[in-house]
Amino acid sequence: MKVLDLHCPQGHLFEGWFASEDDFQNQLERKLVLCPVCGDSSITKRLSAPRLNLGARPPQASPPAAVPPATVSAQGASPSAQTLEQLQAMQAAWLQWSRKVAEQTEDVGEHFADEARRMHYGEIDERAIRGQASPEQAMALLDEGIAVVPLALPEGSKEKLQ
Ligand SMILES: [Zn+2]
Repeated sequence: MKVLDLHCPQGHLFEGWFASEDDFQNQLERKLVLCPVCGDSSITKRLSAPRLNLGARPPQASPPAAVPPATVSAQGASPSAQTLEQLQAMQAAWLQWSRKVAEQTEDVGEHFADEARRMHYGEIDERAIRGQASPEQAMALLDEGIAVVPLALPEGSKEKLQ
């Protein structure tokens, strides 16, 4: 299992879990990796923050110019231009978003794949659910055309619910 930090062209940060790096690349090519915020499928793996700060600047470049205050909606900003502060602000926004998801979805735990499938085929009413599924189960669901958002909820949002 591999948990990757991902971001879309709009700068939304999120985590995705995959069986392996290859699995990630494969899902990426099939456009199965979507931004949970805006649905964009042009997802890139996030570089670590220190490297991101360096960007494409050669080491001898002058110090970076002043950056605008961090905003949650960094619309149009290219990831390489993001500052650490902006990343943190977006990380916080993501945290908030995932808390909302946790609050608005029903935790069906290990029955996730079954429940998602039954909803898809109309056996039970549609509702927002979350739960655990193995990468294999998630892949099978996606193959059947069932939308699954790989999402690693931060521990805090899970605790809040119980
Ligand atoms: Zn996005």
